[in-house]
Amino acid sequence: MIKIAIIGYGNLGRGVERALTLNKDMELVGVFTRRAPETVSTYGAKAYHMDDLLNKKGEIDVCILCGGSATDLPVQTPEITKFFNTIDSFDTHAKIPEHFEHVQQAAKEHQTVSIISTGWDPGLFSLNRLYAQSILPSGKTYTFWGKGVSQGHSDALRRIEGVADATQYTIPNEQVIQKLKAGELLELSTRDKHFRECFVVLEENANAEAVEKEIISMPNYFAEYDTEVHFISQEELNKEHKAMPHGGTVLHIGNTHDQTKQVIEYNLTLDSNPEFTASVLVAYARACARLAKEEQFGAYTVLDIAPKYLSSSDDETLRKELL
Ligand code: NDP
Repeated sequence: MIKIAIIGYGNLGRGVERALTLNKDMELVGVFTRRAPETVSTYGAKAYHMDDLLNKKGEIDVCILCGGSATDLPVQTPEITKFFNTIDSFDTHAKIPEHFEHVQQAAKEHQTVSIISTGWDPGLFSLNRLYAQSILPSGKTYTFWGKGVSQGHSDALRRIEGVADATQYTIPNEQVIQKLKAGELLELSTRDKHFRECFVVLEENANAEAVEKEIISMPNYFAEYDTEVHFISQEELNKEHKAMPHGGTVLHIGNTHDQTKQVIEYNLTLDSNPEFTASVLVAYARACARLAKEEQFGAYTVLDIAPKYLSSSDDETLRKELL
């Protein structure tokens, strides 16, 4: 049995607790939180304060870190990797090399294993970009996200004065995807690839026109996109727009001899982004435990991990059933 601790209990932490029930070779030691444990309501797992984590050192094989990428993981992953093998889902793409260096230092010095930036993007999408570009070096790779809820963009809407609540969907441009699949090699701007659709609940007496203007002109979030804004009631938002679906497509259009067209497509359609991301983290926790057993200490990303390390089946079974 691989013994797992969940560090941080938000959407992803809850997803990991659920995913572990589907993986019979793993057991959950507990949830560790910075909040008062009695205020954290789990699906049944025991909750402990973070201060108790080191007391459980002998009982935990892998810590699955479920904190946020903005401020939690840059601190927590290097620190906890000094004492435990770790997995995280750090998704600030531009800062992954820097994060890797910090975690690598801790893992090498303290003889632990850490696999960072697992999940689907970064994560499974990164792997598919690598496969596609290695197999068809002549081609071009495009990544489309959605249709799905972007937590970052929804948060940005909620911070606008006059907005009581909001949900933002990222929507890929299907027409462009079809053109690419038909073999057209297109130079695409940010605006060409995705639309943004916002469902917004206004506070009483808020000025809808001013709110809409602020949304569509917000730099880095909406100004670079065609954005549609719908004002709705809190009841409708709660009923129709509180789930966390997401997904996307990695598309690689390439050619082999004499312009022979070859298309590689990898697609995810997810009812729950956090539950799916959590399932990826759990599979990589298995790889982490195995690398630690082999004393292959250090930091890794999904690009470094042999696929068979994700599986609970032995090599012979995999050769028989999957090849
Ligand atoms: P949350 O905001 O739900 O949780 C983040 C942390 O906040 C938790 O670990 C928890 O820490 C704390 N927290 C949670 N709920 C509360 C609360 N009610 N009050 C106070 N603190 C709370 O984030 P998510 O779980 O949705 O996402 C975590 C990260 O996962 C994201 O930042 C993103 O970077 C990453 N991610 C990566 C993906 C990928 O493909 N690589 C895909 C999706 C997400 P504590 O218990 O210690 O208080």
